[in-house]
Amino acid sequence: MDCIFCKIVKGEIPSPRVYEDDDFIVIRDIAPQAKYHYLAIPKKHFADVTEMADEDVLLVGRIFKKIGEIADSLGLSGGFRLVSNKGADAMQSVPHLHIHILGGEKMSDKMC
Ligand code: AMP
Repeated sequence: MDCIFCKIVKGEIPSPRVYEDDDFIVIRDIAPQAKYHYLAIPKKHFADVTEMADEDVLLVGRIFKKIGEIADSLGLSGGFRLVSNKGADAMQSVPHLHIHILGGEKMSDKMC
């Protein structure tokens, strides 16, 4: 499958991981839109939230919980924003579900 995030997960495209477990990796976004901008990427490929299988509910739940647990170590003790884009209107550019983790500074009161 020609998916850039699958290639990063497999190590075929080098990208330092700031966190990894059996479920997902966290990398730094190459085009940061906040002081700290990470991507939480499940190791399992599915395009977006509309393609989640029933068992993925638990996977994504574990990822959200773990993000909360590691947030301080990522420099996000002041708070953070989680965003997951789906489709053209949301400007999703990589069709492998991922969660943007943004923070390290005061965010805009707009959504993104
Ligand atoms: P989205 O537009 O929601 O699909 O988000 C995709 C994100 O992936 C964008 O913020 C890109 O900057 C980021 N991105 C694309 N390629 C890479 C890469 N090789 N390493 C890190 N981030 C990437």
